[in-house]
Amino acid sequence: MKQVIKEAMGDCSTIGEFRFLLHCQECGRTWHSSPVRFSKAGTKPETEGMRAVFRTLYERERAAAREKAAAEASEIFSQCPVCGRLVCDRCFLICEDLDLCTACAEALQVRGDVVAGEASSPREFPAEAAGRISTEGDETT
Ligand SMILES: [Zn+2]
Ligand SMILES: [Zn+2]
Repeated sequence: MKQVIKEAMGDCSTIGEFRFLLHCQECGRTWHSSPVRFSKAGTKPETEGMRAVFRTLYERERAAAREKAAAEASEIFSQCPVCGRLVCDRCFLICEDLDLCTACAEALQVRGDVVAGEASSPREFPAEAAGRISTEGDETT
């Protein structure tokens, strides 16, 4: 699971700060990890040797930050067991038998509660996910 997230995460790190992002594949919301400062941020390497050390340090710290960001993301994102997409907690339903993303739950006509606990809002389907849109039979009261 964390591996999936790690691979899906985008890297928006800068020279002084490590930061990662992840898009919900259902609603498209972008999540950013909390930034982690590079320990040598603002320090200028004075020699070629130091530069090499900094570069290695940077790579190492970035890998650690990526690990941490993935752990953070796994609190918010879930992988749908049916379609395999990574979706945010607003697009993931806790259902009786199997937890699903909202799109799959709808397609399979399974009911569940949104992880984020929000009342289900009118969904907007991104164009590329418009495999199955049905407007009939929406039994909202
Ligand atoms: Zn979402
Ligand atoms: Zn799904």
